Amino acid sequence: MRQGKGSDMVDVIMVGTVALDTVKTPFGEAVETLGGSAVYASVAASLFARVGLVGVVGRDFPEKHLAFLRSKDVDLAGLEVVDGDTFRWKGYYEYDMNQAHTLDTRLNVLAQFNPRLPQEYKNCKYVFLANTDPEIQLNVYKQMHKPKLVMLDTMNYWIENKKDALARMIEKADVLLTNDAEARQFFGTPNLVKSGRAFLNMGPKAVIIKKGEHGALLFTDGQCFSAPAYPLEDLVDPTGAGDSFAGGFIGWLAKTDDLSPRNMRKAIIFGSAIASYNAEAFSLNKLQSITRDDVFNRYMMFQDIASF
Ligand code: AMP
Repeated sequence: MRQGKGSDMVDVIMVGTVALDTVKTPFGEAVETLGGSAVYASVAASLFARVGLVGVVGRDFPEKHLAFLRSKDVDLAGLEVVDGDTFRWKGYYEYDMNQAHTLDTRLNVLAQFNPRLPQEYKNCKYVFLANTDPEIQLNVYKQMHKPKLVMLDTMNYWIENKKDALARMIEKADVLLTNDAEARQFFGTPNLVKSGRAFLNMGPKAVIIKKGEHGALLFTDGQCFSAPAYPLEDLVDPTGAGDSFAGGFIGWLAKTDDLSPRNMRKAIIFGSAIASYNAEAFSLNKLQSITRDDVFNRYMMFQDIASF
């Protein structure tokens, strides 16, 4: 059963997990709380653009979370509710919050998910294939009609379990997002510049390597941009930082419809600003209340901290 009527008005579609997360950090714990790559990315991008979410949940998924997504104008025509349990992820962070430690991943309904894109999404120009099974990413990619920008994310779980399918998907992506640990893991090298170049050689026109509280690197043909991270004092839970970064990044590109290197740099700062807010609270508790003005304010602070 699909969760909305659909709309030909979405600017960007997000494909990924819709999850119930249980997360522990040195600052507390959240049990069975709203999460998932597609959820963080959608809510972040909704600050700039009209978003359609593609994913699956089980019958146990609380209605209040669907109502929350609708309140953010996230179109749910591509969200299926099927028999079974929702995807669950359990993890923790130590004082070095750059590294998430997974305790348990239950694919549940994700294991059988065979997404069928709503007709009106197939011509969408911007697509974020957020962290999920690379076979699902490939399946969705095949259903799209010549999108302008396909951005891809993944994580260690899929590098370990489905590296071949992931490599086939990387070859097709325009922008690849990874974090530093994943970039090292994929090529078995400690050097991020080498990994960035090696990913570019696989096909993407741009590669972004996120370094948690140390910012992000953008590699394009012949260029490297190093973005700072916001010096955050109230770091509570970094879960969803990568996905809200990605949502802010692609949301800004979809809003401006400008893929110039200069605008990509701006998009990275918008993504970083939104990700920094997200880390101030568990789940989407902070993201749900920030406004576009808040994001612009933090964007200005980024300009200030990086200016010399
Ligand atoms: P991040 O932005 O990297 O912190 O992603 C956090 C989200 O990823 C959490 O809300 C999890 O539900 C989700 N997640 C965890 N493991 C996986 C996985 N193997 N595939 C897809 N999503 C996952």
